[in-house]
Amino acid sequence: MRIAIGSLQCESNTLSPIPTVKADFDYAAGEGILKKVHVEDMLRAEGCEIVPLIYAHALPGGSVRREDYLDLVEDMVGRLPDSGVDGVWLYLHGAMHVEGIGSGEEYLLRRVREKVGFGIPVSVGMDFHANNSDGVIQLANVICGFRTAPHMDMVETERKAMRLLIRCVKDGLLPRPAVARAPVVIPGDAVQTALHPLREIMAEADEMEKEPDVLCAQVFNGQPWVDVPYMGPNMVVTCGRDREKARRLAERLAKRFYDARYDFKFEIEALEPEEALRAALAAPERPVFISDSGDNTTAGAAGDNAYMLKLMMDLRVRDALLAGIMDREATLKCYEAQIGDTVSFEVGGTLDPRSVRVPVTGKLVSRGDILGYTGGWAGKSAVVQMDGITLIVTENRTALTRREIFDSIGVDFMKYRLVVVKLGYLFPELAEAVPRSILAFTLGGSTERLEYMGHKNISRPMYPLDDHFMD
Ligand SMILES: [Zn+2]
Repeated sequence: MRIAIGSLQCESNTLSPIPTVKADFDYAAGEGILKKVHVEDMLRAEGCEIVPLIYAHALPGGSVRREDYLDLVEDMVGRLPDSGVDGVWLYLHGAMHVEGIGSGEEYLLRRVREKVGFGIPVSVGMDFHANNSDGVIQLANVICGFRTAPHMDMVETERKAMRLLIRCVKDGLLPRPAVARAPVVIPGDAVQTALHPLREIMAEADEMEKEPDVLCAQVFNGQPWVDVPYMGPNMVVTCGRDREKARRLAERLAKRFYDARYDFKFEIEALEPEEALRAALAAPERPVFISDSGDNTTAGAAGDNAYMLKLMMDLRVRDALLAGIMDREATLKCYEAQIGDTVSFEVGGTLDPRSVRVPVTGKLVSRGDILGYTGGWAGKSAVVQMDGITLIVTENRTALTRREIFDSIGVDFMKYRLVVVKLGYLFPELAEAVPRSILAFTLGGSTERLEYMGHKNISRPMYPLDDHFMD
């Protein structure tokens, strides 16, 4: 058995004005991929010959620049033999948007099919936030995805896509997945798989997978910050042979999702920014984490908005940590000074013109490379002690999602009364470590406020913009 493997991922946010370019991708080719994905042992156990293509992953960001995307696709497809391959395994995101092209997944799959034809199975593993176009559904034979949000089962998903691919090759299956859509847009942070109502919907999908002939029954939430007609929850069911059954099961999941639309709630405390700060200051717990949810880098926003910093300065907040703001110039300026020096600079708004810019003066406490949130290092950073506020600035866009990342720059968040981060819901490890967290409804590229998302191209009718159209 000869299996080709490749991975191309970026979660796009079309509200972000910053294009994602080739340099933003962590790239490996050929044998180098085997360390990046988690399927080699499965292929070796089957005695497969592996045809490694490319691996290219970027942090969530604005639409991918067309030429850079095409280079990556041609690099991938160029390594794919036009005959003699028995199956293709692809680990994609599902919400990659490319300037002038649209769905990055659909275009890639189309190029792959042009090369290998429709006579061999192509199995795809994706993120829970995939916005699958109809083209994606028609071009792949197996589509599975993460079953957790926050995501914890990435490796399991890679392996599931591979397990199903091997099964298809061995059993001579060429399944055709079916999709059904729920015309509902729910902000990402109100959709968590461990909570009602999604918990029950996911459990139903799990039950479906136990039925004969069902290879995969997958709930995708979609990524709401992508302004395309196929944005939104999509249920994809893959049966080995019975396409009609796949369609019926997908429709059952979509109806359940639509019927549950009023039950999706922010399960964490969610407040306007000033209320969030006041609540944190009055709280008996410490530290209280506040998510600057409109500038959430893990949802593709710029991460350079100094709005929360300005608000904290205006409110004379003390004993607070702002972690952090992306500003290259400000960070590099801290590398020109000595530790202990007083530094002055402006911070914010270097990427997203909607961001606020704020003058800062404080003592340079430390500086050094900061760990990135997807592994590897994210470049330079500095810690500046202002009057009552400790500020972290970083050279590159990043997110402080785990304790390890704070540790990498010697910052102990437990020492503060309140900590502001550029996230939506806290990642599980942080959520466990802190006694209270509040989501602040700030504006920006990842705003949770649907009315500010400015969608022009999404399919209508769509709840909550429209309602009762399916009753
Ligand atoms: Zn996701």
